[in-house]
Amino acid sequence: MPRPVDAVIEYLEAEKARGVSHVFLDEGARKVMRDLQSRANSGRVADVSPPAIVLFSSPSPEVEKPAEVPKNVTVSGTTKAERLASLRAQAESWPAAKALGTLRDTMVFATGNPDARIMLVGEAPGYHEEREGEPFVGPAGQKLDDILIKAMGITREEVYISNIVKFRPATPRQTTNNRPPTKEEIEVCLPFIRAEVDIVRPACIVALGGTAAEGLLGLSGDFGAMRGAWHDFAGIPVRVTYHPSYLLQSGSNLSIRRQLWEDMLEVMARLEMPISEKQRGFFLTK
Ligand code: URA
Repeated sequence: MPRPVDAVIEYLEAEKARGVSHVFLDEGARKVMRDLQSRANSGRVADVSPPAIVLFSSPSPEVEKPAEVPKNVTVSGTTKAERLASLRAQAESWPAAKALGTLRDTMVFATGNPDARIMLVGEAPGYHEEREGEPFVGPAGQKLDDILIKAMGITREEVYISNIVKFRPATPRQTTNNRPPTKEEIEVCLPFIRAEVDIVRPACIVALGGTAAEGLLGLSGDFGAMRGAWHDFAGIPVRVTYHPSYLLQSGSNLSIRRQLWEDMLEVMARLEMPISEKQRGFFLTK
């Protein structure tokens, strides 16, 4: 007869194969783990019955999070800059993020113009962003700058750039390696991006990559189906496109560059930005 622990092992193996390195353990599961540990330490391992450990890939609806962990941010101030600053201050020591124990300590908030018409949303800071305290400053950021400055003809200062998750996701023995955030990590940070959108009220949001699209829009499944359509977030039109890192990985693949560029052309058209004939022809095969 299969033991309950086999299902847990199978689930963890599948998550590992998907590249997931952390899972959320609710308080009940943590207690079971602690009890097992102390029974093992006291030499009573033999009488440990197959554990009824419940591992959740997202917090269980039945289990309340500890009451002291606030779920909602409060916004204070009059100007947009003041209101964003009040959010930033809360994010610095956001208890829900700390409670997960899977995110690093340094908070990376957002950069750019609080009056921007375009808001770009990535997934989470990486090594370079953590070092500099600013989103998209590493190689992916340089690609993003190319898209904005060289192709669209706008500056980084004209747009608002943020991430769904405000802390770099941790990995064991981490050096420069990064990983995408988990559903739980996204969930605990979502109140910030929601509040940022509410303050900035851009004319358009661009979700950079599948993780940002899933977190922001609750979409899942085929990334191709997420692209090529307008979505809505709090009444603001959202376009989904490739993450700039994907452009880096795909090297000189012109088709990917063109697809991303077509997404940005859609954004420019929606915002009634001027588009030259030369711009329309970028990344087309000769
Ligand atoms: N990737 C992201 O999604 N965000 C960053 O800030 C950097 C890399």
